[in-house]
Amino acid sequence: MTGRFAPTPSGRMHIGNVYAMLAAWLSARSRGERMLLRIEDVDKPRVIEGADQLMMDDLRWLGFDWDNAAAPMYQSRRTERYEYALECLRSQDVLYPCFCSRADIRAASAPNEGDGFMLYPGTCRRLLHEHPEEVQARLARGDQHSMRIAMPQSLPEREAYFDDGVYGRQTYDLPREVGDSVIRRADGLFGYQLVVVVDDLDMGVDDIVRGRDLLRSTALQMWIRRCLLAGGFKPEHSAEAAAEARTVAPTVASAVVASASTAAPAYAHLPLIDNAAGRRLAKRERSLDMGALRARGVAPEQIIGFCAWLLRLRSTSEPIAAAGLLDDFSWQPLRADHPDRALDPADPNTPQWLADAL
Ligand code: GLU
Repeated sequence: MTGRFAPTPSGRMHIGNVYAMLAAWLSARSRGERMLLRIEDVDKPRVIEGADQLMMDDLRWLGFDWDNAAAPMYQSRRTERYEYALECLRSQDVLYPCFCSRADIRAASAPNEGDGFMLYPGTCRRLLHEHPEEVQARLARGDQHSMRIAMPQSLPEREAYFDDGVYGRQTYDLPREVGDSVIRRADGLFGYQLVVVVDDLDMGVDDIVRGRDLLRSTALQMWIRRCLLAGGFKPEHSAEAAAEARTVAPTVASAVVASASTAAPAYAHLPLIDNAAGRRLAKRERSLDMGALRARGVAPEQIIGFCAWLLRLRSTSEPIAAAGLLDDFSWQPLRADHPDRALDPADPNTPQWLADAL
């Protein structure tokens, strides 16, 4: 299998990012598998110049490694692949233009469940169905629009399910709980939901570890993946995977690489981490970011030890090196105890260096 860590370079990493990397890295490396890094810089307005380099420096300092260190994947360099993916989806007849603004959608949507997901009420899908000539006219006149992928309306496709390594069986009714979703934004940038699927396919990633705020996105991404493959999408193998394949028996190895990259991935989602005030950790929290912690002389083992405790890999937050956790890694303890975490200065397992920063 192949794991990955896919940070957005929108600021310095914080404890929550380290915790996610630790889990993803242990999941892959404890089984001797590949681990890849992807810089999710598709959302250009959020990118901070130089944040990618600081992230990689912090990750190395923390004791992590990854196999594509010589050439990590950058989404900003992959527009051609996303264009190709869009063509594959077009061939499946699942895309339609959407002229709604965020305000239109907010006004017409049911409240979401707090994971930032806004269920699209299907306005422009109906428009295309009932008044295709109006859609043509608006496109011809150059009206700004996003592209949405339509959710399947009938069973069995409309029901997406997967067995999460931490949260167990998850089932989503795609039209009712996910809704038609943006895959290219009105500003022309490709949407997160599409690019993540294309990248994971191209990198041969099949071991996905990330925050539980993406549980619902997983159902959507499974649908996008299915439509891409049905539309003839051919994963592009990294030079490294191809080279690796050549060093084993050529025919067998390329078949292994090909099937590994299109088999359904395994998913494990992680509890979220809140700050002392009960809000989700954000890159804005300067006192908890890696720059501040390193400047205060906190050691990598102290940060890893605390994250290992958050993952319930250890019963205390005693310092330990990341590599020291490889032998006993399992999802089981987290599976048994997965409420969201709150950083609490009064908890005996909150180390002093962290309590000082809260
Ligand atoms: N780039 C996303 C983030 O920073 C991660 C997306 C994913 O793991 O699929 O949260």
